[in-house]
Amino acid sequence: MTTITDPLDGWPGLDDPDRPCRGAGFDQFFPRANESGAALRARLTRTAEYYCRLCPLRELCRDLGAQSGHGMWGGVYYPDGSARRPIDLLDTGGG
Ligand code: SF4
Repeated sequence: MTTITDPLDGWPGLDDPDRPCRGAGFDQFFPRANESGAALRARLTRTAEYYCRLCPLRELCRDLGAQSGHGMWGGVYYPDGSARRPIDLLDTGGG
């Protein structure tokens, strides 16, 4: 019998045993109850910096996030609501 221990294992290519966010807890990548605005963005940015900044799977993860359209994937946050644009939390704007 197979036991799914991490929700991202269900996504193609993200079942890498060295994935930095393995076991981190899915809720870290989604808004929590009564969390919004600047506080939400700050927390998700800390999560993205900690887990995603140097993750070797980041580009793949971002592609999958675009398919999902919810939560934070590879440092890109997808706010709920189809009219809301994704936010790149790791973009330092230094381009
Ligand atoms: S980019 Fe972030 S969320 Fe995606 S697999 Fe890597 S650590 Fe996990």
